[in-house]
Amino acid sequence: MESPLLRVADYQHVVFFTGAGVSAESGVPTYRGRGGIWKHYDYERYASQPAFERNPEEVWRFHNVRRERVAKCLPNAAHRCIAACEAHAEHVSVITQNIDGLHQRAGSNVVHELHGSLWRSRCDDCGYTATEFDAPLRDVRCPHCPAYKRPDIVWFGDALDPAVFEIATQALIRCDLLVSIGTSALVYPAAELPMLARRHGARLVEINPEPTPMSPQFDTCLRTTASAGLDRLLGAFDPS
Ligand code: NAD
Ligand code: ZN
Repeated sequence: MESPLLRVADYQHVVFFTGAGVSAESGVPTYRGRGGIWKHYDYERYASQPAFERNPEEVWRFHNVRRERVAKCLPNAAHRCIAACEAHAEHVSVITQNIDGLHQRAGSNVVHELHGSLWRSRCDDCGYTATEFDAPLRDVRCPHCPAYKRPDIVWFGDALDPAVFEIATQALIRCDLLVSIGTSALVYPAAELPMLARRHGARLVEINPEPTPMSPQFDTCLRTTASAGLDRLLGAFDPS
């Protein structure tokens, strides 16, 4: 067996920057790439604020299908390896574009969700927020006012939450190792965040079976799946 390419214990601040590809082996479909869900659905019909204002029940039906699907999925070896790294480096954080909650289910403690969460909802009329793991979520009305709750997800056309963006930025500035996994690097501003780490001197590793527009900026690119790539990089089941 080949020895791992690096030891996570040699780094002080490690950031795992993840996209839909890290959950592909759990059976959660990616957006783009092979099997991407937007090939089958007209996203503007289901995942945007105007769509929600037009027909909140229909938007909730779509998100309930996603909740049911993700609820049946389990964290995979890549999620588990990332969580296990917390025992070996002083500071480990995950910055994810995913909304599936699988990093937390694998045991990661510091997860910054750039695009929100499938499991949270909020009421923009009165400020009510809730975290509920029901799949499907049957009660889609706000309990405090006549409005509908909306999924607390950054939909197409929405801005990122500035507080989450700020805390992710701080982690990127501090990190000395950034491992980007399973992101097509096409969605901005998330796509350019690894470059912030690079400008502050971090080593950059990309794990993705396919090249991305950002690949030339990485020190090391592993053209394989999330779990195989982490195994090659860190020795997935023994990240010490
Ligand atoms: P994307 O769908 O645009 O790209 C997925 C990437 O993963 C591709 O580059 C593909 O080559 C790679 N990939 C496919 N299988 C892989 C595997 N087994 N291991 C490693 N990489 C693999 O995903 P993205 O860049 O995260 O797109 C951004 C948007 O997709 C985000 O807004 C995010 O919220 C959303 N999204 C989230 C989920 C989820 O929560 N799991 C699922 C689908 C989409
Ligand atoms: Zn309300």
